[in-house]
Amino acid sequence: MNIGYTEALKEYDYDCFVFSDVDLIPMDDRNTYRCYSQPRHLSVSMDKFGFRLPYDHFFGGVAALSKEQFLKINGFPNHYWGWGGEDDAIFNRLSAKRMSISRPDGNIGKCRMIRHREKLNDPNPERFNRIRNTKQTMDTDGINSLKYEVIKVEKNVLFTNITVDVGNP
Ligand code: BGC
Repeated sequence: MNIGYTEALKEYDYDCFVFSDVDLIPMDDRNTYRCYSQPRHLSVSMDKFGFRLPYDHFFGGVAALSKEQFLKINGFPNHYWGWGGEDDAIFNRLSAKRMSISRPDGNIGKCRMIRHREKLNDPNPERFNRIRNTKQTMDTDGINSLKYEVIKVEKNVLFTNITVDVGNP
């Protein structure tokens, strides 16, 4: 997501970014993918969780942040490998900077998850520790410490597919 942010800014001076898990499809046109005065959590009722939030501070799935909001939290952490936790860390970053979360109504924020094999993405055993240490690490791990190499950029009509090398854990 940090790479998407950086690469998009090479194309145009965008001031709003919507970060979406690749498997989530919005079900209601009124769920506008735009930025708000506070960071916006858009995927509030996912079929996977019976169309409700799995827990109050859930920030996973789809979120919209303005450039200013994103930079205030130093972007997202780079040191999460495997499944889980990065969205909880983002929530902690936002709370640490005293931002609140804006959300659509549960009916409007419905979305479906495309079936896929989560088995191929093992849970990250480090995630609980990492989430707990968000405040200590967020100023040094983020958009200001991002390292990657662009391998290929394929421009399509409706999307650009960027292949990158992010190195090893
Ligand atoms: C994980 C999150 C995930 C959530 C819902 C949590 O335990 O840390 O990354 O989004 O579960 O599946």
